[in-house]
Amino acid sequence: MNQESVRSLKGIGDKTGKLFEKLGVNTIDDLLHYYPRAYHAYEEPQSIKELEVDRMGAVAGILQKDASVRRFQNIQVITASLRDQTGTLQLVWYNMPFLRNTLQAGTYHVFCGKVVKKNNRLTMEQPEIYTRDGYLTVMKHMQPVYGQTRGLGNKAITRAVASALDSRQTERDYMPGKLRRKYELAEYNFAIQHIHFPTDRQDLLFARKRLVFDEFFLFLFGVRRLKENRENARSSWVMKLSPEVKRLKERLPYKLTRAQEVVLNEIEWDLSSGLVMNRLIQGDVGSGKTILAVLALLHTAYNGCQGALMAPTEVLAKQHYESMAQLFETYKIPKQLVLVTGSMTAKEKRTAYEKIKNHEADIIIGTHALIQEKVVYDKLALVITDEQHRFGVGQRERLGEKGQEPHVMVMSATPIPRTLAIILYGDLDISIIDELPANRLPIKNCVVDTGYRKKAYDFIARQVKEGRQAYVICPMVEASEMIEAENVLDYAQILSKEIPGPEIACLHGKMKGKEKNQIMERFASGEIQILVSTTVVEVGVNVPNATVMMIENAERFGLAQLHQLRGRVGRGKYQSYCIMVNCGDQEGTQKRLDILNRSNDGFYIASEDLKLRGPGDIFGIRQSGDMEFRLADIFTDADILKAVSEEVNELLEEDPELEQEEHQELKRKLDEYLERSYEKLNL
Ligand code: ADP
Ligand code: MG
Repeated sequence: MNQESVRSLKGIGDKTGKLFEKLGVNTIDDLLHYYPRAYHAYEEPQSIKELEVDRMGAVAGILQKDASVRRFQNIQVITASLRDQTGTLQLVWYNMPFLRNTLQAGTYHVFCGKVVKKNNRLTMEQPEIYTRDGYLTVMKHMQPVYGQTRGLGNKAITRAVASALDSRQTERDYMPGKLRRKYELAEYNFAIQHIHFPTDRQDLLFARKRLVFDEFFLFLFGVRRLKENRENARSSWVMKLSPEVKRLKERLPYKLTRAQEVVLNEIEWDLSSGLVMNRLIQGDVGSGKTILAVLALLHTAYNGCQGALMAPTEVLAKQHYESMAQLFETYKIPKQLVLVTGSMTAKEKRTAYEKIKNHEADIIIGTHALIQEKVVYDKLALVITDEQHRFGVGQRERLGEKGQEPHVMVMSATPIPRTLAIILYGDLDISIIDELPANRLPIKNCVVDTGYRKKAYDFIARQVKEGRQAYVICPMVEASEMIEAENVLDYAQILSKEIPGPEIACLHGKMKGKEKNQIMERFASGEIQILVSTTVVEVGVNVPNATVMMIENAERFGLAQLHQLRGRVGRGKYQSYCIMVNCGDQEGTQKRLDILNRSNDGFYIASEDLKLRGPGDIFGIRQSGDMEFRLADIFTDADILKAVSEEVNELLEEDPELEQEEHQELKRKLDEYLERSYEKLNL
């Protein structure tokens, strides 16, 4: 493993180094594992008539005229036009005036880029430009397409990866030869090289399979280690079930569903059993997981112990804190809550840590800041993580080290079939909440095109008049020259003209934590009626008064992600609506969105999505945030997952401590893997 900084590569200075860090790439090793998001296969150039709108295409020919440069506001637009016997194609670039020298009349080029209709003219936007020979060279290989950030484009990343690959030392393959032969796995160094620069599709699949196998392999070893440490471990925290909790449950404004009751029973059994609880609570969005967490935390508090609740985002942590504080006030619960988040000032944090240490705090709520070294607990007996799929194996293990092995409960809305859940959460018992509260009206869905926007705005305006609230989701924070998609900042401007009156606010990941929290609080309290946001509200956020979820560029999101977003509405007694605006015009997209249109059931959606993508479609839109895998997809790679699970079991049976000579490399790799998942904690 190469832990040298990417800055040690030629051509990467301070500035580029910082941009790489933004992508989560710090070391050479990070860079080698920064896998392409897609691959571009360069095809034979086509005739202009053969080009398809909204697809990538390649054309070749001689320019009849010099390119021209114009200014629009502060953007320089350079255009050229290409003609062949079958038609005319416009070529457009932004802010690249220097191209004028290349694009002269009489010169021959190959252009390669996305084809769109602009003012009714067939146009290629920002195409790459090649000479004849240059194009022949790239045609021989598939080209990687990486996730990029402003100022760090695909070419620069590709170059950096190539140079990292060139300068790296080959690693000994740690995978036992027996397994490599049995599953026809590529050699490790080969796989790393070819996942970035495959010669063809088959080669790519070969490399990918090996790396997917590795991801599952290491992950499942981690899970096994957790399981062994925990199985049948006696708990120091044997609780007496508190009558106060029962009383609170009976006074809630709603009755728990049958499913919630069953799961609560399981939790209570665990807490009082004498064994350490390790339980996964799985339940679709809106199934009411939070109240179970609250009741479990209260049992803990009434037993004189501390309980902690961890959320994946600050927004969600803050919200859990607020709603619990309110509940405690309403029902006069004499237990103390403390919030710990990254955006608190050093002084605020010190005060919070102090309260935790001297046990003024009974229940502690926060982000992963909660498991940092500085936090010292007094009798930490229960740790709950909400939306657990955002936390890795290493993180879970570290939690266990925070005291005398607390009870652990993880809550997730990711709809994973039971057979897979048993493997992926092999160290946990599984409880499922398979029922929604009875007072819910099913969300009404529609998939529309952009022509429907005016109607949607009218609809939102009416809902707001009736006292309800709305979310509008855009994929981008601000305008971009490269990507044509709605952005939060401009959209909020437009919306305040289209729907005058209500308080409209923006929310996105580039805002400071404090600012985000304030906006979210004001939305939750009803001060803000319309929230224009990126997907930062995706998980967990609960504002039952919000009834409209309008999603712009719905075609850009994965189905699981759309389902999570939609789950932000329909959480109260009011009829709720989800308006998905499909801004593309590809047929497949419509089909995908129709699945959501048809059903509000997370499991159904996941299985239909899989059918549509097919196991072969490995670079389809990925499920959002599933576990901690970079390449592997638990659904499409389910077969590999199952096989790996069996192999890991067998291997550990044969050599439980990995002492055999041939397992030494594996042991080293595994330690490295777990070490790395700890480091990710201290971001
Ligand atoms: P999730 O499972 O997505 O985390 P929450 O726990 O946030 O869902 O619950 C969603 C909403 O449903 C909350 O407003 C909560 O108060 C409410 N709720 C929970 N359980 C019930 C129930 N049994 N009956 C009615 N409403 C409930
Ligand atoms: Mg939740």
